[in-house]
Amino acid sequence: MLQSIKSKILKNNKNPKLSLWLALGKSIQNIKSDNECILNERWFLDHFITLNIKYIQAFRLLKKKDFQSAWNQIIDCESIINNLLGNPFIQGLEEVTEDIKNKIEKYQKLFPYKMFASAGYITKEKICNICDTSKLSNNTCKHIKGKVYRGIMCSFIVTEAELKHVALTENPDNRRCILIPQNYSYDYSLLEFLISKLNEPFNNWDFSESIRNYPHSDFYHLDPQKALCPCRSGNIYKDCCLTNSSGVAGKHIEFQIG
Ligand SMILES: [Zn+2]
Ligand SMILES: [Zn+2]
Repeated sequence: MLQSIKSKILKNNKNPKLSLWLALGKSIQNIKSDNECILNERWFLDHFITLNIKYIQAFRLLKKKDFQSAWNQIIDCESIINNLLGNPFIQGLEEVTEDIKNKIEKYQKLFPYKMFASAGYITKEKICNICDTSKLSNNTCKHIKGKVYRGIMCSFIVTEAELKHVALTENPDNRRCILIPQNYSYDYSLLEFLISKLNEPFNNWDFSESIRNYPHSDFYHLDPQKALCPCRSGNIYKDCCLTNSSGVAGKHIEFQIG
């Protein structure tokens, strides 16, 4: 049973059909076993299937211009990939996992989110999710965070904590908490352009970035007193590049598709 799901998955590398992955996800739930090796392989395939489902859903959400929901799926994909790479129970899916990893890293660079909220807290008690042992001091049980044992990934459950602060940061461990300032709309034009050129999630694409100076005449339609500067600094045009005689220094992105 597990073997047949495994060979189906290996055969359907980079298959963009969501229904296929949803069906595989259902059939893997039916596998019951007591054997450690099978339990671990089941864990791996289950997570690999979820990765494909979330990746294809992220692509569909980008197509629908639901960028915030797409972002959440992409962040989920990132953590699943880390878990898979740390527990490689099945061989033969490394290339497609790397491919998705590269693509979601590139998508993230095209999102306009640059600042995130991040909570800092003091942990007062945390326990191992597998054996319930306290993990506040080291070496209290043999389970290592992020490793899979008999089909369950070890994580620490914080049962008591004191919130210290909420900080704004550019590089938090967890990039889920994006900021949505009032009266401000994010510019998703790069993603919109890219996604309009792609037919399916596994199409190959890349981009390169360079800084170019654009003459002020390119932006004659903007009101410099009110409009945001086209350099994407977030400042008002007149307080930013307007006084710069060489023009507006802007990121130029060139896509290679196909
Ligand atoms: Zn434990
Ligand atoms: Zn500027």
